[in-house]
Amino acid sequence: MDSVIVFWFRRDLRLHDNAGLYHALKTAQEQGLRVLPLFIFDKAILDHLPDKRDRRVEFIHHTLHGINSSLKPHQSSLVVRYGFPLEIWQELLQQYSIKAVFTNHDYEPYATERDTTISNLLASHGIGFHTFKDQSIFEKAEILTGENHPYTVFTPYSRKWKALLAESHTQSYPTEHFANTFTQFPASLEVPDLSSMGFEALGEPFPAKLLPTDIIRHYDQTRNFPAEHGTTRLSVHLRFGTISIRECVRAARELNETWLNELIWRDFYMQILWHFPRIVQESFKPDYERIQWRNNEHDFRRWREGTTGYPIVDAGMRELNSTGYMHNRVRMITASFLTKHLLIDWRWGERYFAEKLLDFDLAANNGGWQWAAGTGCDAAPYFRVFNPEAQTEKFDPKHEYIKRWVPEFGTSAYPKPIVEHKFARERALSTYKQALKPSYEGEATAAKQQEELFGN
Ligand code: FAD
Repeated sequence: MDSVIVFWFRRDLRLHDNAGLYHALKTAQEQGLRVLPLFIFDKAILDHLPDKRDRRVEFIHHTLHGINSSLKPHQSSLVVRYGFPLEIWQELLQQYSIKAVFTNHDYEPYATERDTTISNLLASHGIGFHTFKDQSIFEKAEILTGENHPYTVFTPYSRKWKALLAESHTQSYPTEHFANTFTQFPASLEVPDLSSMGFEALGEPFPAKLLPTDIIRHYDQTRNFPAEHGTTRLSVHLRFGTISIRECVRAARELNETWLNELIWRDFYMQILWHFPRIVQESFKPDYERIQWRNNEHDFRRWREGTTGYPIVDAGMRELNSTGYMHNRVRMITASFLTKHLLIDWRWGERYFAEKLLDFDLAANNGGWQWAAGTGCDAAPYFRVFNPEAQTEKFDPKHEYIKRWVPEFGTSAYPKPIVEHKFARERALSTYKQALKPSYEGEATAAKQQEELFGN
């Protein structure tokens, strides 16, 4: 049986500048071992994907082929398995003499639970499970307030983030120094076919992986206009780790502060999810759990299909449905529309985005939805109800984006608005007020008691 160190790829699908992989290779070289690179198509995740043409699975599959091609000149290959991680690891323990396992941190609740299970299994065989920070610049409790609490407001968090940033945080991990430390195989191993896992490929191109320096340089001026190619479209690469966050942050620091702030939002929401995993089910602000959502199925269907009669909302939903992408400005507008105009629970919208977005990321998606609904940590105030028309005038004044996605815009075939804006706004305000009223009363009572107690 071969003695190996296993490196387990998850959200870090690249060979270059990969923290955990670097440490695995370095340790293997020091100990005269080799690194077996592993990826598991996790049945616990795949079984829940309703669309068998899911482009995320296709993206992963395509990327694994790319990694395999890069390993070939070194007579190595990825070991790719399909199944439940615990069972796969039990099999691997039979097949290899595993000396240690290296991987990178993953902060989502399912992932942390899975890693605890695997770590325990390995420990029962006397094998270490070594994990590293790779997908963020700062993680977990690395950035805390003076009172050692997590930050729940972005601006002070980002200030501290920038103050603590040192050169070492953005330096690449030179994995290329150890290219000959991978396990060698007589022939390249196969990546299982998508069809063997019940999936199908569309074969359409994915967003480019290159850092678009021109876009980044002008990002602050172009980022809000959905008709323009004014944002980087790197989200899918950041999501699956096909690009390194350290490389992005180096470019951002050199080229554009506004873009750097977007990358900090990403770290911010990751640490929020890590500190407050309850947000997966609940509003960050508990009072907002009292909102009486209307949750009208018919309205929800029209929102999903992009037939609300609000052109900017419909354009966004149709872009999402046909490409798996939606511009950030339009994500905010469509999410605000669902939660405020239609009074549909943010969790319904969040789930729909999770199904459709190529860049779906639990922390960012939950953060974005709770921001729009006003229920989140550093959210839009509940009385801010985006006016779709005003947003259109500002960000798509020539209706270029709308016409791209809603060809019948301006004709009699285009539906009438699902609800009148002014009426919907008033309805949202009174529903939110109603939900939050007891706490206002509670606060008023507490203030009165304080006054009586301290006489001020
Ligand atoms: P750019 O504008 O070029 O930004 C660069 C990178 O910074 C992005 O690729 C992303 O990794 C990160 N980023 C930018 N804005 C944010 C943000 N607000 N929060 C966290 N990270 C950010 N982003 C996701 O990656 N996955 C999601 O599932 C997701 N869901 C969202 C849902 C809603 C309701 C909203 C309002 C926003 C959501 N976002 C999500 C954030 C943002 O819309 C996307 O990251 C962005 O549109 C991706 O396009 P881009 O790569 O061109 O980004």
